[in-house]
Amino acid sequence: MDSLPMSMDRDSLQQLLGEIDTILLDCDGVLWQGAQGTDVVPRAQEVVSRLKSMGKKVFLVTNNSTVTQDDCYRKCNTLGFSVERESIICASFVLAQYLKEINFQKKVYVVGAAAIAQEMQDAGIRCIGVGPERIGGSIYAALAEGKLGLDPDVGAVAVGFDREFSYDKLVRAVTYLANPECLFLATNTDEKYIVTGTPLHLPAAGILVRAIEKASSRQAQVMGKPSPTILYMLQARYGVQPQKTLVIGDTLASDIMFGNECGMWSVLVLTGVATLQDARNLSLANDPLLQKQIPLFYLESVADILTLLDSVTNNNVNEEH
Ligand SMILES: [Mg+2]
Repeated sequence: MDSLPMSMDRDSLQQLLGEIDTILLDCDGVLWQGAQGTDVVPRAQEVVSRLKSMGKKVFLVTNNSTVTQDDCYRKCNTLGFSVERESIICASFVLAQYLKEINFQKKVYVVGAAAIAQEMQDAGIRCIGVGPERIGGSIYAALAEGKLGLDPDVGAVAVGFDREFSYDKLVRAVTYLANPECLFLATNTDEKYIVTGTPLHLPAAGILVRAIEKASSRQAQVMGKPSPTILYMLQARYGVQPQKTLVIGDTLASDIMFGNECGMWSVLVLTGVATLQDARNLSLANDPLLQKQIPLFYLESVADILTLLDSVTNNNVNEEH
């Protein structure tokens, strides 16, 4: 067998499409790119429409915690993607829906963007904490005197990407989490945002999650990929079956790990975070955790699906004549 990941060819795509009825597409780095995420990967809209026309259920699954399901739906409309609102699964949406499903009645302290608060509000969950959240004067004195401004009704801390992250917010989050009954949830643990056109990157939500985990000596329950929470939701709501589901993503530690760990098929595209060399290096590392991030196949771009499908069609036409 070829070493993994294998370059996907016409036959392997045909075979795979015969096995699956559901496709989970990551967004950033798969369907679109760029600082604003508005540079559509060429023909990505066509890919979504084509897969749907073949009878496949298509979901857009993103770990981006700074957008709501509504935001993402509007963006899809603007960029010309034909998707239903319900088929867009954002980490902030999953987090709010999770709290709703467990009938969470207390307040949530959010270390994250307004999108998380919006999703909670839509789900009927009360929350506080969005914004700078400064603690006036000496934090040492505030803690000693019990004047950190904590809300006694908080029963969960939820962490996502937060540009307003500060030492003050870290202190409040950790102090809430000192109560073992306080839930600790995170939207995602991605560690970097690629900045197109530079070799540099920005720290992502996972870095903030790790800071709070380290400071509280607790581990967050993660909602986004690679956690199976999204799959559980899709199974419960839409009857999605992992063995009939393909994950297409650009990030090894989230998308591909999610696919592999949940018993789904996985394809890496090279239009985002991971390079082919990154994927191949995983095979060389003698680390079981890293080996779970190796995709079965790779494609240069999601648009190669169209090229491969069209080559099947053309081939059939040629064979008939
Ligand atoms: Mg991505």
